[in-house]
Amino acid sequence: MDYTNRRGSLSAAPFFAPHTARLRLDPSTTARHRTSAPAKGDLMTQIYTGSCLCGTIAFEITGDVAAFFLCHCSRCRKGTGSAHAANLFAPGASVRWTQGKTELRHYQHHGSRHHRSFCATCASPMPYVGNDHIVIPAGCLDTAPDVPINAGICWSDRATWVDGIAAAPKIAGLPDA
Ligand SMILES: [Zn+2]
Ligand SMILES: [Zn+2]
Repeated sequence: MDYTNRRGSLSAAPFFAPHTARLRLDPSTTARHRTSAPAKGDLMTQIYTGSCLCGTIAFEITGDVAAFFLCHCSRCRKGTGSAHAANLFAPGASVRWTQGKTELRHYQHHGSRHHRSFCATCASPMPYVGNDHIVIPAGCLDTAPDVPINAGICWSDRATWVDGIAAAPKIAGLPDA
């Protein structure tokens, strides 16, 4: 995702959305999560876990998600190999790498603020830790956050085939050979 608009200036940071959605504790996977001591007032700060495909890297994220965007820009499409990136933005959150931190790799696209973190072995997208925010690829979480998608962004740059996704037949498993 890139926060620089076409005139080269920093656009309004999309992660400062007006609402703040709290991560949800999924009772079906409670063993994977724990809840820390109560924060200020009666709010409970939740910890979410995630990992890469090969299992080398694992992490815990503590904090709130401010926004959830699907980015259709060409950089995100190339970086994910799919129609769009799916990123959660958590301005005040923190990450604890519980496993494999040394296997994290980072890519900063030249001449832009587009960046990605990923596993050196399996190339799974991993959370990117910036100076004042964390970008969490939604797919690397081990449980889905209960956060609404705010918007599909960079829609004017979408792939020509993306409009067909909703209309495509849905098959529960793999297609017949
Ligand atoms: Zn993007
Ligand atoms: Zn991996």
